[in-house]
Amino acid sequence: MIKTRFAPSPTGMLHVGGLRTALYSYLFARHNGGQFMLRIEDTDQGRFVEGGMENMIQSLKWAGVTIDEGVDMDEHGHIVQKGEHGPYIQSQRLGMYKKYAEELIAHNHAYYCFCSKERLDELRANQEVMKQPTMYDGYCKNLQKSEIEEKLQSGQSHVVRMNMPHDGDTKFTDLIRGEVSFQNKLIDDQVLIKSDGFPTYHLAVVVDDHCMGITHVLRAEEWLPSTPKHIVLYNMFGWDAPTFAHLSLLINEQKQKLSKRHGDVSVEDFKQKGYLPEAMVNFVSFLGWNPGDEREMFELADLEKEFSMEKVSKAAAVFNREKLNWYNKEYIKKMDIVELTERALPFLINAGLVPEHKNTPWLQKVVALEKERMTVLSELSES
Ligand code: GLU
Repeated sequence: MIKTRFAPSPTGMLHVGGLRTALYSYLFARHNGGQFMLRIEDTDQGRFVEGGMENMIQSLKWAGVTIDEGVDMDEHGHIVQKGEHGPYIQSQRLGMYKKYAEELIAHNHAYYCFCSKERLDELRANQEVMKQPTMYDGYCKNLQKSEIEEKLQSGQSHVVRMNMPHDGDTKFTDLIRGEVSFQNKLIDDQVLIKSDGFPTYHLAVVVDDHCMGITHVLRAEEWLPSTPKHIVLYNMFGWDAPTFAHLSLLINEQKQKLSKRHGDVSVEDFKQKGYLPEAMVNFVSFLGWNPGDEREMFELADLEKEFSMEKVSKAAAVFNREKLNWYNKEYIKKMDIVELTERALPFLINAGLVPEHKNTPWLQKVVALEKERMTVLSELSES
């Protein structure tokens, strides 16, 4: 059975690009009768944002994505974890990563590295001057067993590095990009366990995707250079790697990567402005996918029926705000007036125009007056 996952790091609010990754993962699973899982990747404690995890889940729920397994939220807003492969929050799985790192060390696929920050900085600076690729030089790979024991015993700060084979190439077939190949000599001896005892993303993602039975990994293009490291790790463990699909970048009309500096990027921003989840889901799904014909209006259930990876494009997708507005207007026009009033009520209450959440015939008449004109629900209070 196909099983996909969305694995956000709780470093802020869910970005529209993240929503697209989650949606495609969900749609691909649904379309193929599979399961969709949510895992929280919080191994970078320095980037942890309070409430980030809750926001990720709330935004997915708002969009209508159902989580079959993993981290979810109950009706009281409490975080719950469901499924037999938990915990699904990485900071609760540290023992597991340590065990697998030790297994790699025992097979000489990984090694302890005691290099100081000063030494690594100097190494990097020299490589930059020499115009060489900046990577670890393998200094600690050749330490004697007794030396390693001694350093560990005395509590010297250390990391665990991957013993990357530096000859040959690592190849894999990406569902969107086709055959991809990387030269191993350009791949660093990646840190797998940091000095704080936490795993890096690379070790944790491989261990978890394997242990949780993930068959297909859909993720953003920015992770493509990490994938050969992951494939090598799968080989070292003797595990089958999942199938990968790297989704192209989302750009704005000026061809820049979508970022906060250029306006709204989080799902929450759009929700607050009064974009409907139906419009958002439809619009975001079409950023890199289309059904191959003229049809444009697709609600989540339609997308579940029609979505296929063959029609996902590898070109960067342009986030066209006009198009999003068009979708929102269309969904507003299409919506039954009682339902539309229901959705508009929080905005009217917020603006102090309506005292309580009461969907009255009078209010429906008011909303009906603006139905054909408005682009987003937040405009209603002003009009
Ligand atoms: N935690 C990573 C992120 O936030 C997940 C990358 C992946 O899906 O492997 O993008």
